[in-house]
Amino acid sequence: MNLFSGLEKFGLEAQESMQLYEEGKRENIKKEEEKEEKAKERLLPKETDFLLLKTIRCKVCEHVFKAKLVKSGKARRLQPDRDLRPRFQYIDTLKYDIISCPACGYTAMSRDFDRITPTQAKMIREQISSRFRKVYEPDTGVYSYDAAIQRYKLSLLNAAVKRGKESEKAYTCLKIAWLYRGKGETMSQSTPQEKEKIAACLKEGEEFYLQAYEGFIKAISQEMFPIYGMDEGTLDYLLAYMSFHFKKYDMASKCLGSVLTSSSASRRLKDMALDLKEEIVSQLKR
Ligand SMILES: [Zn+2]
Repeated sequence: MNLFSGLEKFGLEAQESMQLYEEGKRENIKKEEEKEEKAKERLLPKETDFLLLKTIRCKVCEHVFKAKLVKSGKARRLQPDRDLRPRFQYIDTLKYDIISCPACGYTAMSRDFDRITPTQAKMIREQISSRFRKVYEPDTGVYSYDAAIQRYKLSLLNAAVKRGKESEKAYTCLKIAWLYRGKGETMSQSTPQEKEKIAACLKEGEEFYLQAYEGFIKAISQEMFPIYGMDEGTLDYLLAYMSFHFKKYDMASKCLGSVLTSSSASRRLKDMALDLKEEIVSQLKR
C-alpha cells in the first residue's frame, strides 16, 4: 500500500519509494548537528589567539627568557564583578599578568617586574634564588589556573622578601583570590563531590581575599594615591565592597561616603556605590 496515494490532486505524485520512517535518519541528523557544533567551536577564538611571547631579561640574574603576555586591546572587556575583578571574553587575562624567571625564581606582576632596586635584587638572590629549583612545566600554550596561582604565590613570596609595598602585596593577594574565583567558574558542578571541590577552591581564595583587605587598609594609611594604579575613589569603592563582604558595615559605609562625595569618582563608580549602599541598608534592616 502506498501511504501517500490520493495526494496527486495537490500535484504531489505518489512516490512508491518514499518511506515514512527512514532508517537511521535521526542518527544522521544528530551527526550533522554535532559536526556543525564542532565547526562553530573551531571558529570561536581560542585563548592562545590573545597571547604573544615577549622576550624578557631578568633584572635579578640576567637570564633571557620568553613570557606569555596578553596582546593589548584584542580581548573584549566584559562587565567586571562587583569588586572590580576585570573580566574578558574568551580569556582570563589575570592569569598572564605575571612574569616569572624560570632560572632564578624572581617573580612579579608585569608592571613591577622591571621595577626592582639593586638592594632588592640582592635580597631575592640570597633568599629565593639560592634555594630555587627549576620545575619543568610542559608548554600547553596557555597557563592553567593552578599554574597561574602558583606564579602569583611565588610573586607574593618575592614581594615579602624584597620588602615590597603593602599595596603590591595586597593587590597580589586580591588577584590570587580572583584567580580562585575564576577557577571555580570553570569547574564542573554536577555532582555533590564536584560542588564540594568548588567550595574548597573558593575557601582558599577567601583566605587571600582577607589578606588583601587587611593589606589595602594598611596601604591607605601609608601610601600616596594613586595606590597600585587606583585613584582614591576606586580604592574606597573596593574597600567598601570588601568591608561589606566581611560584614564590616561601619567601614563599608565610611568608604561609600567617600566615593559618593568624591569630586573625581566616575558616574559609573558612584552608581555601583549607590547599589551597594542600598544593599547594606537592607542587610542592616534584617
Ligand atoms: Zn632570573
